[in-house]
Amino acid sequence: MLKQLTSLLLRSIFPDRCVGCGRPGNLLCAHCCQQLQPYPGDQTQPMRSLDGTGVAYLFAEPLQSAIHRLKYEGEQRMGVILGDLLARYWQQQPLPADALLAVPLHPQRLAERGFNQSTLLARQLELASGLPLLDDSCLVRERETSQQAKLNARERQINVEGAFAWNHPMPPPARILLIDDVMTTGATLSACADVLRAAGCGEVRAIALGRSLARDRDSDSGTAG
Ligand SMILES: [Zn+2]
Repeated sequence: MLKQLTSLLLRSIFPDRCVGCGRPGNLLCAHCCQQLQPYPGDQTQPMRSLDGTGVAYLFAEPLQSAIHRLKYEGEQRMGVILGDLLARYWQQQPLPADALLAVPLHPQRLAERGFNQSTLLARQLELASGLPLLDDSCLVRERETSQQAKLNARERQINVEGAFAWNHPMPPPARILLIDDVMTTGATLSACADVLRAAGCGEVRAIALGRSLARDRDSDSGTAG
């Protein structure tokens, strides 16, 4: 309660500023939202173990700054704004699913950050789609993987092999839609999909908020796979 009051007070003295243009009022203003570049459809290639993928935007400014603000500066309200954008994309280009599942963080990373950014996005998608969001504990990241950003595609795949496990007495629903903030090579999503299939899931698809173009992917910074 005290924390909420303090944050309200601080916001009245220092209003939110847009990460894109710096104008006061919103964390990401309507004008900058319109500047977000839709991810080009011709860049979407089939990915190992996934029955379909969707990416809302090109991982470029102002999206990069918005995701940075969420993940590394702990601004969870940005998760609602970005989650609504992801939900809007899904409504335009829906992927079939029975349930949603956020890509999990390792418990240690979760403890450091205090929240899973993909879960925040997934909650907004749950509200918009009516699809149930599976609890974070269903799929666990058992092994902490080194930062994917520093690795090439093959190294990324090896890095996440065996990192995840299904952790529920019941098998997963028949069709799952995985949710991630940034998709890079897709190694993390494919590793999750392998585990879900082994646990009995029939179809796994994935949706992400942002992705770089293939030719720029090796220079991605601050992304987790
Ligand atoms: Zn702006």
